[in-house]
Amino acid sequence: MMERSSTEQARRFDDIKANYYEICENIERAAAESGRKPDEITFLAATKTVEPEFINYAISLGLTHIGENKVQEMLSKYDEYDLDNSQLHFIGHLQTNKVRQIVGKVSMIQSVDSLKLAQEISKQSIKNDVNTDILIEVNIGKEENKSGVTEEIIDELLEQISSLEGIKIRGLMSVPPICDSKQEIFKFFDKMYKLFIDISSKKSDNIYMDYLSMGMSDDYKEAILSGANMIRVGSGLFGARIYR
Ligand SMILES: *Cc1c(COP(=O)(O)O)cnc(C)c1O
Repeated sequence: MMERSSTEQARRFDDIKANYYEICENIERAAAESGRKPDEITFLAATKTVEPEFINYAISLGLTHIGENKVQEMLSKYDEYDLDNSQLHFIGHLQTNKVRQIVGKVSMIQSVDSLKLAQEISKQSIKNDVNTDILIEVNIGKEENKSGVTEEIIDELLEQISSLEGIKIRGLMSVPPICDSKQEIFKFFDKMYKLFIDISSKKSDNIYMDYLSMGMSDDYKEAILSGANMIRVGSGLFGARIYR
C-alpha cells in the first residue's frame, strides 16, 4: 500500500467527521418524519475496505455499530477494532465452512438465508457457549444470484430456525435491487416493512422482530421513512471505495 501523506490523512479524518454528523442529522430528520426518536434508529457503518484507524475514528465520534462483509478481511482487522465502544456485525454472504471463524467474535450475523447456515451457527455457538443474534436476509426483489430467501419460504425457514439452540432471530435484513427512482425503492422497502410487521404480529416463540435492517448510502433516508430501524452506510461515511 502507498504511504499516505499526513495532509491526505487529515483530510480523510475531516471528511469522515463531516459525513458522520451529516448522516446523524439526516437520521434525526427521517426519524422525526416517521414519528420516531433518533435513538430508535441504529446507524451501522459498513466498513469493508476501510482501515481500522478510520473505523475507530468514526467510533470516537459516537458510532456504535460496525459491519464487515468478508470473513478474511474481518479477521485481519479484528484485533484493531475498538470493540469496547462498538458492536461488530457480519453483514455479507457467509459460507457454512467459515462460520466457526466468526462465531464468538461478532454480536450479530445479519445475513442468514438457509437452514444449513443457521444450523452451523447454532452448532458453533453451543460449542463456544455463546448466543448469536441473527437476522434473516430477504431477497425482496427476487433477484437471481443474490443472497437471501424469498418471501414465500420465509415462514417455514423462521419456524425451523427458531427451534435451534444458541441462536436468536432478531429481525430481517435486505439489500433491495438497484432502482432508477425513489418510487421504485420505496416499493421494496414498503414490502419489507409489511413482511416485518406480518411476522411480528404472529408473536411466534423465539422469533423477535426487533430489527429491520435496510437502507445504504444512497437510500437510508427512504428506508427510515419506510420503517427501517437499522441502516448500513459505507461510502456515504468513509468515502467512495477505490477497490471492490
Ligand atoms: C457495502 C455494504 C453496505 C453499504 O453500502 P454503501 O453503498 O457503501 O453505503 C450495506 N450493506 C451491505 C451488506 C454491504 O456489503
